[in-house]
Amino acid sequence: MPITLRSETAVAAMRRAGHVNALALEAVCDAVRPGISTGELDRIAEDVIRSHGGTPAFVDYPNSDPAGPPYPATINASIDDELVHGLPGRRRLREGQILSIDVGTILDGYVGDSAVTVPVGRISEEAQRLLDVTREALRLGIEASRVGNRLGDVSSAIQQWAESQGYQVVREYTGHGVGRDMHEEPQIPNWGKPDRGAPLRAGMTYALEPMLTIGEPKLYVKRDRWTVATVSGALCAHFEHTILVTDADPEILTI
Ligand code: MG
Ligand code: MG
Repeated sequence: MPITLRSETAVAAMRRAGHVNALALEAVCDAVRPGISTGELDRIAEDVIRSHGGTPAFVDYPNSDPAGPPYPATINASIDDELVHGLPGRRRLREGQILSIDVGTILDGYVGDSAVTVPVGRISEEAQRLLDVTREALRLGIEASRVGNRLGDVSSAIQQWAESQGYQVVREYTGHGVGRDMHEEPQIPNWGKPDRGAPLRAGMTYALEPMLTIGEPKLYVKRDRWTVATVSGALCAHFEHTILVTDADPEILTI
C-alpha cells in the first residue's frame, strides 16, 4: 500500500479534526482530579466533540478479539499499569495515580488522534519522570519527521531516547498513518534502525505514539476484552499527536 500524500484540502480538514480532538483532550485533562470517575471524563470528551460537529472515532471500533465487543466509549481511560483501551465507567480516580487518556475525532470525513498521560493530584517522582521522558520521546519523534529522513529515523529517535533513560518501548502497538481512517499505512513502530523504511515526504500525515514502560514491556488484555495493562504491573505512559510532514518543520495537527 502506497503512503497517501494529503492535498491542501485534506490537510485543512485534518487540522480542523485535530483541533477539535485537542479541545476534547484538553477539557478532559482540565477535569482530571481525585474523585472524578472515568465515565464522567468520557462524557466531557464526547460533549466537546459533538458540540463542534464531530463524531467520537473510537465508538464501535472493532475488537481485535473476534469474541470481544466493539469499543463502547469516546475515550480510553487507562490507569497506572494500564496502557491503552481502558474502558471508562464508574471507577473514580485517586490521588497519586497516572491516567492515560486517548481520544479520536472524526470531522468532515477526517480523523484526529492524540493522547496524553497525566498525573492525578500529586504523584511520585518515579511516575513524573516516566511522564516527562515519554512526552520527550514524542517530541523527538516529531522532530525527526522531516523530509530527508526515513520512517526508521523516527522510530529509532523514540527508541534510543527511551532506552537511554532506562525505559522500554511497547512492541504490540505502533504509530500509524491517519487520514480518512484512524489507522492507515504506514505503521510507525517505536523501535527501529536509522536510515531504514520509507522516505518521508511532504503531505504525509501520521500519528506518533510512544508507549513506555518501567521494566518489561509485556502486555495482556484484561477480562473486559479491551483494557491493556503491563504483565509486570509496573507503570506505563503514552503520548500521541497526529502530525503533518512538510517541506519545513513538522506540523502538529492535534493542537
Ligand atoms: Mg490514539
Ligand atoms: Mg493512534
